[in-house]
Amino acid sequence: MIFVTGGAGFIGANFVLDWIEQTGEPVVNIDKLTYAGNLQNLSSLQGDARHRFVQADIGDSAVLAALLAEYRPRAVVNFAAESHVDRSIHGPEDFIQTNVVGTFRLLEAVRQYWQALNAPEKEVFRFLHVSTDEVYGTLAPSDPAFTEEHNYEPNSPYSASKAASDHLVRAWHHTYGLPVLTTNCSNNYGPLHFPEKLIPLMIVNALAGKPLPVYGDGMQVRDWLYVRDHCSAIRRVLEAGKLGDTYNVGGWNEKANIDIVRTVCGLLDEMRPREDGKSYAEQITYVTDRPGHDRRYAIDARKLERELGWKPAETFETGIRKTVQWYLDNPQWVANVQSGAYREWVQKQYAPQ
Ligand code: NAD
Repeated sequence: MIFVTGGAGFIGANFVLDWIEQTGEPVVNIDKLTYAGNLQNLSSLQGDARHRFVQADIGDSAVLAALLAEYRPRAVVNFAAESHVDRSIHGPEDFIQTNVVGTFRLLEAVRQYWQALNAPEKEVFRFLHVSTDEVYGTLAPSDPAFTEEHNYEPNSPYSASKAASDHLVRAWHHTYGLPVLTTNCSNNYGPLHFPEKLIPLMIVNALAGKPLPVYGDGMQVRDWLYVRDHCSAIRRVLEAGKLGDTYNVGGWNEKANIDIVRTVCGLLDEMRPREDGKSYAEQITYVTDRPGHDRRYAIDARKLERELGWKPAETFETGIRKTVQWYLDNPQWVANVQSGAYREWVQKQYAPQ
């Protein structure tokens, strides 16, 4: 039995589904169900005894202690976070509360639980913290990709809060000996991605005949990984990672945002042509850039590949095609997540230039 926090969100839900498919080991899924948490993501597990959902905040020490005592997990995988950079610029408070204070409370609850385990249980226990490449800051076009040795230079309230959480995890290992592992992954894409993020936003807006908002000149470079490949990396690190170490996770897929948008438009042109026969690329609209927008992220994943033998299963071409197909096949999921509150947020965000 393992605990997953934030398992109703994009990556967490993909991880829970992947974990149960691949290992069959039961999961207790602890999620606060913020705007980003969606139990519909887990509907295929309804009635499956291997998945137990608990609505709770990782900042709630009493609930965490009670759950740990009741279920006695052999590992905790922490996905729970506020995750959207734009929201962190408009309202950083929630990011500090969940990503910093929440991670601290979770670490404390887990430490107390772990310290009370008997020797064999203590030996196998793991706390895996899921983090981002954004903690490393931004790269110039000719810089080498981020390795695990790169300085932490976070630039947004989101990345600063994640950097703080990574440091807490590191300190709980060095100070208390808590058996921790940290993964720093590049941008994920795939099914169940909330349509405030670039790829699902473009697919959903294109199909709705709306503008496709591209920040600034669209030349910001991100490194993309299919979400199920991130899940397989986390499974591998949990299984064989060296305690206290961090592992960068990425698929060597650097792309400029505008190229991503053009690729999505090209796939939609082929898979669901516009009625007027024109390309979805006609809907591209440049909007004011995000303040402090990092220019380039790129992940060097050689440590994970070399030491743990991990490799992604998808190329960008196969993963993006699967993703577009999933959104075409699941219009009801899209309709359900587009609540009134979500629409207001997107309208406020993407004012045309
Ligand atoms: P998400 O926003 O889709 O999901 C976050 C989940 O956490 C939601 O289900 C939400 O309800 C839950 N949550 C938020 N605050 C909580 C709290 N206080 N207590 C319990 N649950 C809470 O995010 P995501 O994209 O799935 O990212 C998951 C993790 O992976 C995050 O830690 C993020 O920093 C990290 N990450 C994301 C990416 C990416 O490209 N999306 C890349 C690298 C790392």
